[in-house]
Amino acid sequence: MEGRMQDWPLIVSRVLEYAARWHPAQEIVCRTVEGPVIISSYADLARRARLCALALQCLGIRHGDVVGTLAWNTTRHLESWYGIMGIGAVCHTLNPRLSDSDIAYIADHGQDRIIFADTTFLPILGRIWQQLPLLEAVVVLTDRQHMPAPSPDLPPKLLCYEQLLDAATPQLSSFAWPELDENTPCGLCYTSGTTGNPKGVRYSHRSNFLHSFIVTQPDALCIGAENSMLMVVPMFHANSWGVNFAAPMVGCRLVLPGPALDGASMYHMIEAYKVDVTAMVPTVVVGLLQHLAAHNTSLRSLRRLVIGGAAAPRSMIETLERSGIEVRHMWGMTELSPVGSIGLPTGPQLAEGMSDDDLLDRKACQGRPHVLCDMRLVDDSGEVLPHDGSAVGDLQVRGPIVVQQYHRHEQRTVDAERWFSTGDVASIDQHGTMKISDRSKDVVKSGGEWISSIALENTAAGHPKVLEAAVIAIPDERWGERPLLIVVPQPHAGDSEALRLEVLQYMASHPQVAKFARPDDVVVLPEIPHTATGKVSKLTLRKMFEGYKPRPAGGLSKL
Ligand code: ADP
Repeated sequence: MEGRMQDWPLIVSRVLEYAARWHPAQEIVCRTVEGPVIISSYADLARRARLCALALQCLGIRHGDVVGTLAWNTTRHLESWYGIMGIGAVCHTLNPRLSDSDIAYIADHGQDRIIFADTTFLPILGRIWQQLPLLEAVVVLTDRQHMPAPSPDLPPKLLCYEQLLDAATPQLSSFAWPELDENTPCGLCYTSGTTGNPKGVRYSHRSNFLHSFIVTQPDALCIGAENSMLMVVPMFHANSWGVNFAAPMVGCRLVLPGPALDGASMYHMIEAYKVDVTAMVPTVVVGLLQHLAAHNTSLRSLRRLVIGGAAAPRSMIETLERSGIEVRHMWGMTELSPVGSIGLPTGPQLAEGMSDDDLLDRKACQGRPHVLCDMRLVDDSGEVLPHDGSAVGDLQVRGPIVVQQYHRHEQRTVDAERWFSTGDVASIDQHGTMKISDRSKDVVKSGGEWISSIALENTAAGHPKVLEAAVIAIPDERWGERPLLIVVPQPHAGDSEALRLEVLQYMASHPQVAKFARPDDVVVLPEIPHTATGKVSKLTLRKMFEGYKPRPAGGLSKL
């Protein structure tokens, strides 16, 4: 016997059509790449997403084809997402902050046939398109007036987005979204937060739909039609944490910052469009707080700020809460769609008798998992650990919004019971609050972007005077973490200080090292500590360099 309810697939075109039908006039405010702020509506978004879908079909894009995007958070980018996904194609977000070689690897591995790109990012494609044999065309997300002239620095086949939409207009009245299976893939996002090459997480319509419910929940972003949400997290970072589906799902006003992510621009958008909810990585919050302090001003409309992607410092939470902004600390991963847990407000029974300091300590934890994310801790031998607040182990998760197998990988990435190992080390207390204390994966997270220690070590080891290299993360007030490179010189490498500067220069000019990934400093040591199994002991190195401040000569430009 089966349930006797309707089989209504959870596909993202339904989210869009819901918003267009029931919240048609709700605003989407966007700072465009061309400069001006333009206001449109959910009705406009749906109409233009249908036009985009028609344009894609004209270009020969079919069910299962992969279409890349290399773009800021703008209305054009958003409507192209729905256009791509709605016809059963896969929207592959490319992160422009990565190095050219990483972007080329990811676009090639994703098998992108077309890439939608902002004019800002065309030079990147100009440098890598020859490494993308499957790429047929680049659709420039602009109008005819702003189309660049052909140049040897740009990819050869550039199409104008607005012209494609105009050409599709006569067919608009006969267009309908296909009724897809809810398990159809719809999004692809590569994570570099892992060992080895970046890995692609392939979301389904169902997983995105379910995840969006979680994002809207009272204990998460808590958004509805009366809210105005600034979508700061880039769409190329794990679905903008799901906001691009969650906001239309409840008819929330969406404010899109385009390329302007500095403190002053954030402040302007929040004030001008009465933003009351937003979500950011700590580094962007730092920029915003610096702007507020420098101009002796405050945010009048903002009520709730979700901080995630890296640990939100307790002092940051305190500053914000003292100014009347409720902070919710979120933990997640690309592999989790990405929200895994949220630092909820402490319930009245628990809060009773707690000092402000205790409450703040709880806020600084990464919170409780939501209903679609089962969670546990295990020790090195796989034994499940208790939730007593003191046992520390590897954090594992499972659920319908959690990855099962990476894109084009032969093996599953979960165990037989579908537990996925996050690479984070945590404890969970008796009230269910999870606290991240360390990371077992060998990466540095700077300003919300991953820097692979291994990739930096391999590059450094390629320097003729370097015998061995190791990279560790050192804390940084603005970026959260920054990479410190430690090298052992080859015999007769000469003066240590000269070598330090030489290696810094070498890393800064190496094409495989993205600008933000360049180490802040290089330390030359006669030897690097190893573990009993011969691996570099990062633990010992971290202890040795606790409190280390990079020297000014190493203070290269960061992001
Ligand atoms: P996202 O785009 O959400 O940042 P990533 O896949 O790039 O996702 O990074 C996920 C990793 O970032 C986590 O495994 C964890 O190491 C780190 N991280 C994310 N949120 C937090 C947090 N609130 N506190 C500490 N670390 C975090």
